[in-house]
Amino acid sequence: MSIVLQELNQLTAKENILINEPLRNYLYTKLGGKADFFVTPASIEEVQAIIRYANKTKIPFTLLGNGSNLIVRDGGIRGIVMSPKRFISIRRDGDLLIAESGARIIDVSYRALDEKLTGLEFACGIPGTVGGALYMNAGAYGGEVKDCLEKAVVVDRSGTLLTLDASELDLSYRSSNIPEKGYIVLEAHFRLQPGEEKEIKAVMDDLTYKRESKQPLEYPSCGSVFKRPPGYFAGKLIQDSDLQGKGVGGAEVSTKHAGFIVNKNNATASDYIAVIEMVQRTVKEKFGVELEREVRIIGED
Ligand code: FAD
Repeated sequence: MSIVLQELNQLTAKENILINEPLRNYLYTKLGGKADFFVTPASIEEVQAIIRYANKTKIPFTLLGNGSNLIVRDGGIRGIVMSPKRFISIRRDGDLLIAESGARIIDVSYRALDEKLTGLEFACGIPGTVGGALYMNAGAYGGEVKDCLEKAVVVDRSGTLLTLDASELDLSYRSSNIPEKGYIVLEAHFRLQPGEEKEIKAVMDDLTYKRESKQPLEYPSCGSVFKRPPGYFAGKLIQDSDLQGKGVGGAEVSTKHAGFIVNKNNATASDYIAVIEMVQRTVKEKFGVELEREVRIIGED
């Protein structure tokens, strides 16, 4: 452990490395274990150096965004967990908004409003980072990242910096090739159109109202747990399976939105995962439909 720490210290400043860091502080579900090394590099060169170091030494490497689509098991994550939380700038270049990967997609959406640019209204309530939004082609209310992403700057697992066209990321419903390729997203270029501030704001206000009235935002959760199965709505299947309010330990299926599982009372990751499995099992038995998880589960038991 101390050798790894010494070596990491040569790649980024001491204050950018935390040891045995509880990840629940960084996750929307507010549960899960610790990271051996939680690293927040301050420059692209540091990101490249750390990824090369992890490769060379075969130390496991995990990337965390805003933790809004991740469940970390109670045993935590071995090796290095990297967060791009220092990469948060958003700038305008013509009708492009160029955002660093650690910026929240909500903030990019509000910056578009300030700049009177339309096209990112759908993202005004998605609590992830730009990197996390590209990773899963985040979307809501009929819009998705794919509709407005022009380019992305990434680092691959050999530490090489690449600029990719959006088409090279194979974006489709809640999916991209980022996990398969092992890219670390550093920057995204969103192609937007000039619009009327009043109209953009009206759409964002409407979507915010819909979200706040339908989602259990008062409890920790990871949003919709399951993808939409072809021909069905996950929430409706769960509701019709009579699962709302049912749970394990401190986790339960939300009574407000059946697609959400909430951490109602100091749940563990095991509780949360047990509820996911109970929902999948019950829906399969009742309706013969396999619910595929949208949320990622990582780490050790
Ligand atoms: P994380 O949860 O931190 O990570 C998710 C995955 O992305 C991980 O595998 C991680 O390694 C990877 N990743 C993160 N950053 C990078 C990067 N820079 N480069 C490469 N990979 C990276 N999602 C929607 O699509 N639509 C919604 O309407 C929506 N509503 C939500 C509402 C609530 C209340 C919550 C809690 C979640 C909601 N989500 C929604 C889910 C979530 O916000 C999105 O999936 C978001 O894109 C995840 O981003 P993140 O930064 O939190 O990623």
